[in-house]
Amino acid sequence: MKRVAVLGSTGSIGTNCLQVLDALPERLSLSGITAHRRWRELAEQTQSNHPRWAVVTDESLRHGVDRGAFSTKTELLFGESGIERLCSAPEVDVVVSAIVGAAGLRGTWIALECGKAVAIANKETLVVAGPLVMELAKRTNATLVPVDSEHSAIFQALQAGRSNEVKRVVLTSSGGPFRGRTLARLRDVTPAEALAHPTWNMGPKITIDSATMMNKALEVIEAKWLFGLRDDQIDVVVHPQSIVHSFVEFTDGSVIAQLSPPDMRLPIQYALTYPERCESIASKLDWTKSFDLHFEPPDLDAFPALRLGFEVASRGGTCGAVLNAANEVAVERFLAGSLRFCDIPRACRAVLEQHDFDASPSLSELLRLDQEARQEIARWA
Ligand code: NAD
Ligand code: MG
Repeated sequence: MKRVAVLGSTGSIGTNCLQVLDALPERLSLSGITAHRRWRELAEQTQSNHPRWAVVTDESLRHGVDRGAFSTKTELLFGESGIERLCSAPEVDVVVSAIVGAAGLRGTWIALECGKAVAIANKETLVVAGPLVMELAKRTNATLVPVDSEHSAIFQALQAGRSNEVKRVVLTSSGGPFRGRTLARLRDVTPAEALAHPTWNMGPKITIDSATMMNKALEVIEAKWLFGLRDDQIDVVVHPQSIVHSFVEFTDGSVIAQLSPPDMRLPIQYALTYPERCESIASKLDWTKSFDLHFEPPDLDAFPALRLGFEVASRGGTCGAVLNAANEVAVERFLAGSLRFCDIPRACRAVLEQHDFDASPSLSELLRLDQEARQEIARWA
């Protein structure tokens, strides 16, 4: 029995994760959950699963939360210290890192420091501090298994050969809602249009990232650190059906891919039961019906965010932290109506080019640059 803590349990990944746990009661039990502000949903989750801990991470809600709404078997905690308690508890074996943004770094870091297994959905952690995170996991013998569907696919496909036999990994992208548009036709895109993703149902930040293709940019960086790849070993191909989740090409020309319908419950379950597999509630491919799989190269002129991703993966150092922070605030501004869609990558590039580059920064330096980049973007006009 693995005892699981889910950071960000009220989100899209978090709620899918609780469904996976409910379906596998003989393998997985829920020890703890967290939410930032939506404490009523968190309270409801304690009523069906009775985890030992529930954390409301927004401290300012400490006096506004109705404790009576939570299960009597659950201890209610607040703020960063609550996350720390959960991630370091000996009663937790696996931490699911499913908070959105750089805010997910702290819990992931603590869980790795404690040598726990981490199922990582929060790609921003690896974008901000990939080399430091991988080094920490190695030092403490912690296992880091990807939840992001592309990285889960690559993680699975890599098992078909040795690392020196890998020619390259190819990340697939749905292309988002604006596939096929030119840059000129992306100028006046509205938040509502950008929030309508064709294949995946996700939280708002990653949905906007998918529309700009910043999501794929972040995933290129995530793949580089997670799998220890050279720049020339990472490619992206657009695949609108989101059935082939990514693939690995080996030196002999063999391509090993992972296929399944777009349903995050499968990569979540794989990360939780790894190295084993078992029956799952995720939807299955129906081979009795005909369907097509289409592939096309990405359009880097229409989606300059992707070009930025390759550049940042290649430069490394402080670039990932700055790009990520700039993008988080740019997305917030776009959703609030104070930044145009096509200005998201433009503003990110401007802030990246201005920043004080360091090739091997410490964690505290990365966190300082994260704050500075946020302030820069807030001012960008
Ligand atoms: P979401 O917005 O649906 O949920 C985010 C969760 O994080 C919520 O529980 C929220 O309460 C919590 N949270 C938000 N801000 C916080 C803060 N400052 N401090 C602490 N907690 C905070 O997001 P999501 O779509 O579930 O994505 C979560 C992560 O998983 C992201 O990093 C995303 O890139 C990654 N991911 C998501 C999907 C998907 O299908 N949704 C797929 C791959 C990767
Ligand atoms: Mg993905």
